[in-house]
Amino acid sequence: MGSSSRVVIIESTYATCAQAVEQAFAAFPVAVAGKRVVVKVNAIRACDPDNSAIVTHPALLKAVIAKLETLGPREIIVGDSVGTESYGNSRQVFDTTGLIAAAGPHYRNLSLNLKMVDVERPFKRSVAVLRDVLEADVYISLAKMKTHGMTMLSGAVKNNYGLLAGAQKSWYHYYSERPELFAEILIEMYRLAVPDLVIMDGILAMEGYGPCSPEVRRVNKVLASNDAVALDAVIARMMGFAKDEVPYLRIAREQGLGETDLDAIRIEGDCAPIAGFNRPTVTPESTYCYLSGVGGGKTSRTFFADRVCYRPVFRAECCTPGCTACVDACPVAALKPGIPPELLSERCNLCSACRESCTHDAVRFVPDPALLGELSRT
Ligand code: SF4
Ligand code: SF4
Repeated sequence: MGSSSRVVIIESTYATCAQAVEQAFAAFPVAVAGKRVVVKVNAIRACDPDNSAIVTHPALLKAVIAKLETLGPREIIVGDSVGTESYGNSRQVFDTTGLIAAAGPHYRNLSLNLKMVDVERPFKRSVAVLRDVLEADVYISLAKMKTHGMTMLSGAVKNNYGLLAGAQKSWYHYYSERPELFAEILIEMYRLAVPDLVIMDGILAMEGYGPCSPEVRRVNKVLASNDAVALDAVIARMMGFAKDEVPYLRIAREQGLGETDLDAIRIEGDCAPIAGFNRPTVTPESTYCYLSGVGGGKTSRTFFADRVCYRPVFRAECCTPGCTACVDACPVAALKPGIPPELLSERCNLCSACRESCTHDAVRFVPDPALLGELSRT
């Protein structure tokens, strides 16, 4: 007998995605009346969503919000914590991608409301995550159909990696070293907040070495599911991956998280492998040093080193008397009030909330030479 996991695949364009969203909600009715609904998009960095597949397209977000507004939720909150070179610049990324216009009054900078949680794998560590997602009554993940040079694909499960605020993402990239280890933090983030509904933008999908590859493939599908793991298992097949080529799906199966057996998933719609899809190969790129569209070249330990050694630097000339926004936003009390605030560097976890909170452009993240020196000795 199959599981309750179901994946619906709807042919769509951005012009017609409102109908696809209707179908998704009809297939997976979520009770949102009177509830606090959090919609998390994939907003990894600034880009043109019409000509790249880096972020969830604003047209899909707009259609989902329009649908939700008809269902009487108490509150709709839309956001993400951005990644790569955009750490600390969430609002700017939402602005330039058109996601803030699509979100309208529902946009919120989720990086300013963080909660510390302990994770066990792959390292015992306390991390700052997006509290709004954790505390949502209904969590809707608006994922993007993308590849990834290290995790092979970046779909519904990996959309939850954005729960990890700011440059903490780089910390895990740097120290995980192998895809199998990195997959463990993806699963930890997934376990923290399993979405009630996933709607995936597979209209303009990503090929090549994501998560920021410039290569796109027009797949013209919106996919929806009540099980993010099952949805990723389905797109893995569509992209041409064999079973277990995606390490986090193997771990999900071992931990009994969602359904990875395609025969046990109720699949409706065309899930045939996409002819000639340019997906990452497992070797030799599936090592720490992997190809990526980030910067158009090789993403390596060196690439992440300075991001792991980022520390906030405060510009006294821009800092405003009476302001304590960054001090208040810091989840680990790493900032002492002052003009400018003083950083207690050993406490800083790179969550980037201080930069997110400053409206006076007084916070910059720069590599700390002392930390870089320590890193090169490890
Ligand atoms: S938020 Fe900006 S202006 Fe306010 S105290 Fe911090 S650095 Fe200064
Ligand atoms: S100082 Fe605080 S808010 Fe800023 S990055 Fe470090 S931990 Fe985060």
